[in-house]
Amino acid sequence: MDVLTLTIVNVFIAGGAGTLLWLLYLADKHQHYLLYWAIAASCMFASSSLSTLYHLGLPLPYWSTPALSNTLIISLHLALLAGLYQYFRLPLKRRWFVILALLTFIMHFSDVVMAATANRLVLNFPVIVVLNTLSLYLLFRQRHTDLTGVYLALKLAFVFNITQISFRFLLILSEKWQLGLWDNHTFVHNVGFFGLTTFALLVFGSSILLVYRHQQLTFQQHSERDALTGLLNRRAMEQKISAELDHCQRLARPCSLVIFDIDHFKQVNDKHGHLAGDAALCHIAAITTAQLRSYDLLFRYGGEEFVVCLPDTDLHAAKQITCRIRQEIERAALPDYPELQLTISAGLASNSVSNNCQELLLQADQALYKAKNSGRNQICTYTIAATTGH
Ligand code: GH3
Ligand code: MG
Ligand code: MG
Repeated sequence: MDVLTLTIVNVFIAGGAGTLLWLLYLADKHQHYLLYWAIAASCMFASSSLSTLYHLGLPLPYWSTPALSNTLIISLHLALLAGLYQYFRLPLKRRWFVILALLTFIMHFSDVVMAATANRLVLNFPVIVVLNTLSLYLLFRQRHTDLTGVYLALKLAFVFNITQISFRFLLILSEKWQLGLWDNHTFVHNVGFFGLTTFALLVFGSSILLVYRHQQLTFQQHSERDALTGLLNRRAMEQKISAELDHCQRLARPCSLVIFDIDHFKQVNDKHGHLAGDAALCHIAAITTAQLRSYDLLFRYGGEEFVVCLPDTDLHAAKQITCRIRQEIERAALPDYPELQLTISAGLASNSVSNNCQELLLQADQALYKAKNSGRNQICTYTIAATTGH
């Protein structure tokens, strides 16, 4: 494929990716990283357009090609890095990025750089390698299992670019210092357009994939959360509890379930209004979360009913934890409604009786029923023989 065709291909790739990224950014302007990646694609589009005009034989001035077209390629890598900074919510010093782009442009007018194409490549290559290495560093710092695949694709894009640029850099230096590795300057220059095509496909493809996966995860998280309290909701409950039960069974460890329900909650709504009821639900969710370990699971089961899954916890320890939660709820006043006195009743069951989520919930619910019937503000435990109160 000749260079002109490759530059035209690059115009189309950058144009297509740029349009998509701009549209994605305009659809959700809070995603600032999309703005930078859209700018990156636009820089490549402008640079490749200038290269196309140049290879069509148009008499372009030096300031536009190669000075501006090369600067735009550096800007492409700068904008990709800036996008990653934004994506990972790291502080971004925008002015350094602009200064580096301006410096690159100005450097193109020094005598050494103007003297030969090889000198221009020698100026640009180390800058691109440093920028790509920084991008790689940011990606390697991340530990996000749900996005590992997309991060890997992005890493591959940067590793590919660093490798092809370092290789071409070595060949140019070898030619300059007459080391005789392979003196084919035109080939080294032309293959760069191929390199850019592949890099653009990899990096913009991965960026768009990242946006898609990110949104997919956000939707999934929203669908698993209760809008009022932010706790996991009933939709997520069966799958998560079943996974914990399986895990504990495999390790021959105990696992306990707690269902608790706010006592006389209807009266709270009736006497103090629905807003007070909502505040009470959030208050109880916060108190309970504070009493639990990081690997315990808390769900909003229904209106004013909550479920806690306590992995690696037998009934005795579960009772103690639930007792702490009950006492804390009874003790802590609601900030905006100090006159409100909240209590809960709770039912407990553990995997010593059954390992099935639905069965355990049923058993815990029976124990809760007993706690309610025994006068509320207490905890009952389900056992095979009988449900015992405490
Ligand atoms: P018990 O001690 O037997 O549990 O009595 P209770 O009044 O708590 O139980 P009941 O089931 O009669 O009432 C539950 C109330 O919870 C009724 C409903 O209005 C209220 N509720 C359910 N979801 C919400 C919510 O999201 N916000 C508010 N404010 N109230 C809710
Ligand atoms: Mg209730
Ligand atoms: Mg209830």
